[in-house]
Amino acid sequence: MKALQYRTIGAPPEVVGVPDPEPGPGQVLLKVTAAGVCHSDIAVMSWPTEGFPYELPLTLGHEGVGTVAALGAGVTGLREGDAVAVYGPWGCGTCAKCAEGKENYCLRAGELGIHPPGLGRPGSMAEYLLVDDARHLVPLDGLDPVAAVPLTDAGLTPYHAIKQSLPKLGPGSTAVVIGSGGLGHVAIQLLRALTPARVVALDVSEEKLRLAREVGAHEAVLSDARAAAAVREITGGLGAEAVFDFVGVEPTVKTAGAVAAVEADVTLVGIGGAALPVGFGLLPFEVSVKAPYWGTRAELIEVLALARSGALSVHTETFSLDEAPLAYERLHAGAVDGRAVVLPHG
Ligand code: NAD
Ligand code: ZN
Ligand code: ZN
Repeated sequence: MKALQYRTIGAPPEVVGVPDPEPGPGQVLLKVTAAGVCHSDIAVMSWPTEGFPYELPLTLGHEGVGTVAALGAGVTGLREGDAVAVYGPWGCGTCAKCAEGKENYCLRAGELGIHPPGLGRPGSMAEYLLVDDARHLVPLDGLDPVAAVPLTDAGLTPYHAIKQSLPKLGPGSTAVVIGSGGLGHVAIQLLRALTPARVVALDVSEEKLRLAREVGAHEAVLSDARAAAAVREITGGLGAEAVFDFVGVEPTVKTAGAVAAVEADVTLVGIGGAALPVGFGLLPFEVSVKAPYWGTRAELIEVLALARSGALSVHTETFSLDEAPLAYERLHAGAVDGRAVVLPHG
């Protein structure tokens, strides 16, 4: 089958032929209908050889939806042809965090060498994907594969972050979304669907600000050195009760801290690597800062349910598997509106 692989440190990914995977006991083989292109893959492909955490070649793609093509021995509860979404942050299934559905925080994944598809194991940018366990599949139940596939990460990750801040986002509150790309443009819609908060979006280009407004941001502000002052002004000087940074670089975390209100939540989702120091007098009183990872299985089920209710409209650009390297180039250049989605079967 064809697969998009990251093969050489520093080189672009390539479409190559690889052996067809076959499901072993307990595994499920999916025919991939759609695979999402995440900025984290670009980060992975920028890491140096020293300390690179995964084996190469690596088939990319940690957002995947497909139809069940074959079941390994002993798999029950699924039938060939079922349309499903893949829950990506696989865990052991039995530790205390996994028992709560928080496989994203599995206590034993490191020790057992368990990796998400596309981030250490063969991913969804291929004609077929092996899923290690049926519990990592959620029925699409009528959702369109292209619109649904970004929800497995670009939806689930902001959903997890926003859900924790819901108590802060009552009437009269403000939520700030920094970076209105794949994750950010879904975050804006989640905030609109789940809270009465005023949503202020920040990004670096007029096109991205246009997308932010189109998907529901009340205000869209250019992300420059004056952005924090502009957001403070919008909030009457008080700042925002919740700030979600989908970039995570020095200037954005600085802005995130500068727009936080007293008792605000600041969530650093982007993996730009910058830090926001916490200490008495550094931020307004009692600001919480966290850096979460992906989301729980239950939250994926909730995000898909929310999409079925019609509350989310994910903007996508589609590419064939042969065009997948171009999708990454366009994402790297900031030229994707919403999420790029690869269709491995055309
Ligand atoms: P994306 O490229 O689709 O979106 C990023 C957006 O940020 C773009 O619209 C870009 O124009 C904007 N941006 C860049 N610099 C900016 C600045 N200085 N100020 C404001 N906006 C700026 O990327 P994505 O796929 O949505 O991923 C967003 C980030 O989240 C990435 O760092 C990714 O690695 C990370 N991520 C983290 C998790 C997690 O679990 N923590 C999960 C998925 C993705
Ligand atoms: Zn991702
Ligand atoms: Zn576990």
